[in-house]
Amino acid sequence: MNIDKTPVTVVGLGLMGRALAGTFLRAGHPTTVWNRTTARAAELVAEGARLAGSPAQAVAASPLVIVCVSDYAAVRELLEPLGDSLGGRVLVNLTSGTSEEARRTAEWLTRRGGSYLDGAIMAVPPAIGTAEATLFYSGPRAAFDRHEPTLRLLGAGTTYLGADHGLSSLHDVAMLGAMWSVLNSFFQGAALVGTAGVDAATFASFAGPLIGTVRDWLPDLAQQIDKREYTARDATIGTHLGAMAHLVHESESLGIDAELPRLLKAMADRAVADGHADSDYAAMIEQFRRPSHDDG
Ligand code: NAP
Repeated sequence: MNIDKTPVTVVGLGLMGRALAGTFLRAGHPTTVWNRTTARAAELVAEGARLAGSPAQAVAASPLVIVCVSDYAAVRELLEPLGDSLGGRVLVNLTSGTSEEARRTAEWLTRRGGSYLDGAIMAVPPAIGTAEATLFYSGPRAAFDRHEPTLRLLGAGTTYLGADHGLSSLHDVAMLGAMWSVLNSFFQGAALVGTAGVDAATFASFAGPLIGTVRDWLPDLAQQIDKREYTARDATIGTHLGAMAHLVHESESLGIDAELPRLLKAMADRAVADGHADSDYAAMIEQFRRPSHDDG
């Protein structure tokens, strides 16, 4: 078999599945597709994809099977009836989910003789196949190595994270969490300066460089976190707390939403109560390493 032209099956032809299948097709891989709603396969079939008549036929067609559907319940619904026919194939699940679902699916599939990689796509469909797309994979290294050249077609940022199947989903939500935190803080700031008639574009010109500066702090913060050693280098949590109180006050008195500022301050308050008033801001990690305050 020419390893560069491994036959590939793509099950699930939503916005993302169509982008995945199209990328394999255009790279010259024999590509078999299946979708619950057959009409969604039309364009790919016109481009040369083979349309399987059932999920079983789709899986039988290729040694590498990619599944990308809405959620893990749909994955199970599709694969459960296939029984042992998954044996001998590498199944790559690029459906978003949790680490628990990934580990459970791995156990279930491995029992049926399949080799399972769980993946996560950190990109939108138009970015698939470009330098902008990062895709994470976790599961048996040998399965990833066998199909790496084919999988790498989907994005230059193709990255194997390790044998634990849960790693892709964990990184997925961790990265999305970081993204939402940055975006929501930007919105908070834009709403604040907006009360004085400053437009969001002006605020973006200041916030953008700040986000870059904060990014540059990460390696040093990560070192403190990994060593659990939080000697203050520039500002203590106590100093941060003073400024957080201003953020809460401004938000409340200017009549904009204060939930996010109050959350930031409440977490710093707890760090101070834990004895971290004089610690570096990196000590905030200890607040995240335990269940939420309201989880009992
Ligand atoms: P989508 O356009 O809504 O497509 C969903 C796909 O799942 C369709 O092919 C749908 O089939 C299929 N499906 C749902 N339930 C099913 C079931 N019970 N049995 C069989 N097939 C079923 O979603 P998408 O954007 O392609 O996303 C697919 C996955 O990629 C999701 O897990 C999503 O989180 C992940 N993802 C998407 C993006 C993105 O930007 N779009 C980015 C990263 C990750 P029908 O066509 O028959 O409805």
